[in-house]
Amino acid sequence: MGDNTVKALQEKIREQLHNRNAILLAHNYQLPEVQDVADLCGDSLELSIKASETDAEVIVFCGVHFMAETASILCPDKKILLPVSSAGCPMADMITAEQLREKKREMPEAVVISYVNTTAEVKAESDLCCTSANAVQVANSVEKARPIFMTPDKNLARYTKKHTNRKIGYWNGYCVYHNSLTVEQIKKVKKDYPNAVFLAHPECRPEVLDMADEVKSTSGMIAYAADSDRKEFIIGTETGILHPLSKANPGKRFVPADPKMVCTDMKKTGLHEVLLALENLGPEVKVPEEIRIRAKRAVDRMLAVRV
Ligand code: SF4
Repeated sequence: MGDNTVKALQEKIREQLHNRNAILLAHNYQLPEVQDVADLCGDSLELSIKASETDAEVIVFCGVHFMAETASILCPDKKILLPVSSAGCPMADMITAEQLREKKREMPEAVVISYVNTTAEVKAESDLCCTSANAVQVANSVEKARPIFMTPDKNLARYTKKHTNRKIGYWNGYCVYHNSLTVEQIKKVKKDYPNAVFLAHPECRPEVLDMADEVKSTSGMIAYAADSDRKEFIIGTETGILHPLSKANPGKRFVPADPKMVCTDMKKTGLHEVLLALENLGPEVKVPEEIRIRAKRAVDRMLAVRV
């Protein structure tokens, strides 16, 4: 798509957003042209909280299905649009509510902490939610005598276990992209950029996290890069984040830890799809009330934990 087409589509989107009393939220992993037309960019929870604070009647959520569900959990009175209904998260789909119920029958004493990257139904079966930024604090908030079971990401669970003194079991899920980052690849990039700071996302494997200078969520990486005096950074997460990092820090260099870390679901949403969603007011994501109330309890308990 040429620059003029991009600009024309972005203008039409802005016009429709105004007509529909809508706001556009884009995850940090979205395509650059989608992030550029958004009202707000950020991580999934950050965006859902912002969504609940606006007066807009319609939220266009450029991200994947569980994110639109989280917005629906927090903003039941707003219309939540997910421009491409097939945009999902393979990791979130690695555990179903029935599988979690089965696990809870096996471990009735465990406190279940589910990553925000889960379906609303799985959240509804959980005691608490967590994000990659607050997992350690959420685990530490649990009564000491109780064991913890974390879903769905084994890497986030192992990271949390390492940084708490808690007994933590976990589901064997993982992000296919973060889990594919290897020690060999990091050695290679570090050799090419010996002065760079290596920032890794806690969805990466433990041996990769051991090589990181800092382990950060996506919003944590953005804040860290802005505050740092360093000029080069190796970024160990989905490559979409290179766009907001480079845009906010023109004098600094950001290198992907592995250029193959491209989440295909995150790239399904283009400007055409966003415009169509606004014109049709669909596809809509709405979590059924009975599930929403139970899922919101887990999200609220997380929000009550001081970070
Ligand atoms: S990058 Fe990984 S965790 Fe994020 S949406 Fe894609 S598959 Fe899910």
